[in-house]
Amino acid sequence: MTAPRWLTQHLLDTGATDAHGITRHARPRHCKRCSAPVIAGLDADAAAGTAIADLTPLSAQTELAALLSARRTYTLWVDKTGILLEHRNQFDTANGIPKDKHIIPEHRCHRILGEHLTVTPPRPPVENEEPPF
Ligand SMILES: [Zn+2]
Repeated sequence: MTAPRWLTQHLLDTGATDAHGITRHARPRHCKRCSAPVIAGLDADAAAGTAIADLTPLSAQTELAALLSARRTYTLWVDKTGILLEHRNQFDTANGIPKDKHIIPEHRCHRILGEHLTVTPPRPPVENEEPPF
């Protein structure tokens, strides 16, 4: 029995499978809606969900912003076999950002996380005019 064509295409689009079959490894690709570069794959070894994440590393502050806006965050693992994404649960996030890992947010179209974290607007450039004397 073969999978229906739409299911095969969905699994390819979400990064859950490739030409070699179902894989745990994430694959870089572009979002189908906004064309932003993302990485997609399964987010756990068992009972996994599909993870589609932005390629913007988070700090502790930006991870908190992501969680407050109901976005999942993922630990990005890179090893010899490929790239893995792992969902960060409440126990992972309570311990902050590990120094040897990259944390990336769930992708939301046209919502790059860093843009909304500026507390004060950027200052206009100072113009150096000639003094009036
Ligand atoms: Zn998108």
